[in-house]
Amino acid sequence: MAEEIKREDSSNTASIKLTPHQQRVQDALADRHINVFNVVEIIAHEKVADIMVRMEMCTCSKCACDVLAIALNSLPTKYVTSDAGKQYIQLNSYKRQFETDVEIALMKACLTVKESPNHKEEDIK
Ligand SMILES: [Zn+2]
Repeated sequence: MAEEIKREDSSNTASIKLTPHQQRVQDALADRHINVFNVVEIIAHEKVADIMVRMEMCTCSKCACDVLAIALNSLPTKYVTSDAGKQYIQLNSYKRQFETDVEIALMKACLTVKESPNHKEEDIK
């Protein structure tokens, strides 16, 4: 019985073996510093503090996380790749495209959290 458990444990912690093809993709990503990121998330992070203040709600970290999570769950994801040079231009064009949607989602999320905050006393201090 004990031996059986041990065997299960070792198979759980075994590292995932990549095929040569998978390994090549992995290496290419690491070498070229290619990033894939969600522009909608970046915009939401930039705007959340401002909107929470404007909505005159609690701005503790718990409430900020809740607002972000609720807003991001209601928004589409928009992943883009970035090579360092293009990143800025690309992000700005997406910003214009998604800014309003993100602001509306954040405001709705603020209302939800404001109505029933999840923070505890120690979060607010
Ligand atoms: Zn709070």
